Amino acid sequence: KGPDPDLVAIAERMATVKHKILVLSGKGGVGKSTFSAQLSYALAAMDFQVGLMDIDICGPSIPKMLGLEGQEIHQSNLGWSPVYVESNLGVMSIGFMLPNPDEAVIWRGPRKNGLIKQFLKDVYWGELDFLVVDAPPGTSDEHISIVQYLQATGIDGAIIVTTPQQVSLIDVRKEVSFCKKVGVEVLGVVENMSGLCQRLTDFRFVKLTENGEQNDITERVLGYMREKAPEMLDVIACSEVFDSSGGGATQMCHEMGVPFLGKVPLDPQLCKAAEEGRSCFADQKCGVSAPVLKSIIEKL
Ligand code: ADP
Repeated sequence: KGPDPDLVAIAERMATVKHKILVLSGKGGVGKSTFSAQLSYALAAMDFQVGLMDIDICGPSIPKMLGLEGQEIHQSNLGWSPVYVESNLGVMSIGFMLPNPDEAVIWRGPRKNGLIKQFLKDVYWGELDFLVVDAPPGTSDEHISIVQYLQATGIDGAIIVTTPQQVSLIDVRKEVSFCKKVGVEVLGVVENMSGLCQRLTDFRFVKLTENGEQNDITERVLGYMREKAPEMLDVIACSEVFDSSGGGATQMCHEMGVPFLGKVPLDPQLCKAAEEGRSCFADQKCGVSAPVLKSIIEKL
């Protein structure tokens, strides 16, 4: 039996891609796509040639997070062309192929695997420094396929995104053991939504009345501070949202012997950037999370 022709085709396509990074999470909603999107933006801002491939077939959120909703993929004689955000940042998502974004994609394993294979085989990326792959949550069929296909051409490793909550951390352990089993290096774990951090100037201050109404006193509070203690206006106020009494991701990474990359706070401005489909890095538009994200990316 000769070599699998699909694997040969994938290896040929991927020959022009220097680094391949998989972004994983144990659960949905922990910020995996947000991180993938911002990682891709950051790498592109460093002048690398970047591709972002979204294989979260049941919930493709990448088009929205890069401001590419409603775009379509075109065929050329070289293959499927990604949609470009900038000349050095191309995006490929199942989201571009769905006629109606509200429609649920109910596909069984083989069809999903077929599509992933096709993405890897048929997309014409050209020369890439980095291919960032936003995987679906969990460790299912799709993960095994993508790892198998990518391993044939070399994969740098995986970044695992989690929240500090125990329920999310338990699933991260599974992700780590999945990576170990299939022989993918864990580049590190990112603890996202780690506390709520905002500048004081981003807060709305209220005083509750006796019947539970909120009286907005923001102007009064900020006016007072501007006058009495202007240096306080840069203070960042953080509070714990999730219970991290078990030591959170830091402790878990220590126990499992994988690198801990850092904590990204819940940042309303990061949420807004994701909603509006823009980068966090130009003009430090993401308030308190941009510097943290940047330091994480620099560790990779
Ligand atoms: P996943 O890909 O893990 O399902 P998403 O990246 O889609 O999760 O994130 C879920 C939601 O949470 C999105 O609306 C996103 O904008 C928001 N979000 C993610 N991380 C943060 C953060 N650190 N601060 C604020 N909002 C965030």
